[in-house]
Amino acid sequence: MNAIDRLRLLSSQMHLEPAEDAQCPEISTRKKDEVYISSAALPNGQRISMLKTLLTSACERNCYYCPFRAGRDFRRATFHPDEFARLFMYLHKAGAAQGIFLSSGVFNGGMHTQDQLLATAEILRHSYQYRGYLHLKIMPGAEKEQVLQAMRLADRVSVNLEAPNDARLQKLAPKKHFMEELMQPLRWANEIRREESPHQAWKGRWASTVTQFVVGAVGDTDVEILSTTENLHRQSGLARAYFSAFNPISDTPLEDHAPTPLIRQNRLYQASFLLRDYGFTLEDLPFAGEGNLPLETDPKTAWAQTHLQQHPLEINRASREELLRIPGIGPKGVEIILAARRERRLCDLSVLGKLGVLAQRAAPYILLDGKRPERQLVFAGW
Ligand code: SF4
Repeated sequence: MNAIDRLRLLSSQMHLEPAEDAQCPEISTRKKDEVYISSAALPNGQRISMLKTLLTSACERNCYYCPFRAGRDFRRATFHPDEFARLFMYLHKAGAAQGIFLSSGVFNGGMHTQDQLLATAEILRHSYQYRGYLHLKIMPGAEKEQVLQAMRLADRVSVNLEAPNDARLQKLAPKKHFMEELMQPLRWANEIRREESPHQAWKGRWASTVTQFVVGAVGDTDVEILSTTENLHRQSGLARAYFSAFNPISDTPLEDHAPTPLIRQNRLYQASFLLRDYGFTLEDLPFAGEGNLPLETDPKTAWAQTHLQQHPLEINRASREELLRIPGIGPKGVEIILAARRERRLCDLSVLGKLGVLAQRAAPYILLDGKRPERQLVFAGW
């Protein structure tokens, strides 16, 4: 196979992988291109065209959900680092790919595989002077020095936990070691950010770290996934978690398991943003008895129905923390409301709408100048 054919094969196989697939917000839409190039949002919100691919689809591990697992019968392909870097630069210079997400199957151990990924990144950064976005995967079994090197070269690194704890991981990927191979690199990344000078990193700031979970394959609950996520945000400087609804792959041990509904993945995203950006704690989230979020209502609205419907918040007096609890108002909306309040009293739902608030969503949970907005709208019609 020539290089383009291998890239096409690897990239299309990558899109079968449940990990960070097209349902992930970062890799959200896919152009039908000669190779698979996705439109992806960077951490700063900018959208770029992203080549998401593997250095090799050969793998010696046997994760039960994964299409690349050892022994599964399908056509595999491999790149050498210099060959891959040359091909990517060809696409980059042609304007087809502005950034790259590079992962790999594990071959000859995690350390060797990580060396191959690092060699590719070194060639891109130092031989080709590539200055675009680079997301590198950290392999299970990588060493601290390799994590440091990846963080020097990349904008973002990811260590995919896949499961929220060791017991769940053993049912999902029995050859992976939760603490030693997956949690430890995330901790090293945080230590590096805290203890080493960011001048060593290619842009003068350390790569951010993210992780990803396969949701719903082995009985994992939302409370398990979100408590691990919250710990990582607080203790390991995790930038964000990705959630991938389990989708069974033929010829894998989990092929007969039911797929996870996409709405569960969406609820996990909503809840993780509440924990990270809205001041919610795990105890605030409306888990049902079995430890899962309700699917029919988003978690912020469910919280507000219990806590604010009978006790609405006065928009003109509510604190920043209280405003963040109101459905339809996000962190930006809060800042806009606080600035507008310094100029005038907010008395009308339409004014909130003009400030960028989702006013109809907020209406059941707020007072405007002491009045419920619905009553106010009726009066306005008189
Ligand atoms: S290590 Fe596991 S998840 Fe990663 S490519 Fe290999 S089988 Fe798939």
